[in-house]
Amino acid sequence: MNTPMTKWAEKKLRRRSNKSRCYRVHPINLYEHQVVDGYLNGFVNLIEKTCTCRKFQLDQLPCRHALAACNLRRSSCYDYCSHYYHKETLATAYGSSIYPVGPIEEWDVPDDVQYRVVLPPKGRKPRGRPAKKNANHLVVKKLYNGSVVDAED
Ligand SMILES: [Zn+2]
Repeated sequence: MNTPMTKWAEKKLRRRSNKSRCYRVHPINLYEHQVVDGYLNGFVNLIEKTCTCRKFQLDQLPCRHALAACNLRRSSCYDYCSHYYHKETLATAYGSSIYPVGPIEEWDVPDDVQYRVVLPPKGRKPRGRPAKKNANHLVVKKLYNGSVVDAED
């Protein structure tokens, strides 16, 4: 599979593309399209990368409606994807060198860090599962205090 996208993004695009095959696309002009899916429908603007279903804006990946519009225009859907989903961006993020730190005797630790004392937190965490907080618990507690109240108080 020769694609500029990451495996995750490519899978998502293919799944959306398969579901958009039965959509009807009505072009309004070169970039705006009314896409009828039989449910909520979508109004796609390929220049602004927007759709009324809002998935296009939120994911920064073409939604089903946008993919149907891309298919009608015979334009590549990859042009409308955020660069964050490209393999090259992912490789760049993890591309810098990470050197081993070596043996502990060779570490150059500043004095203020080396002599800092780190203590465990004060107090003990109670054992077991924390008690549930629900309305019945409040009623029982208020009855023990000697006052009669409604459950909503
Ligand atoms: Zn959409």
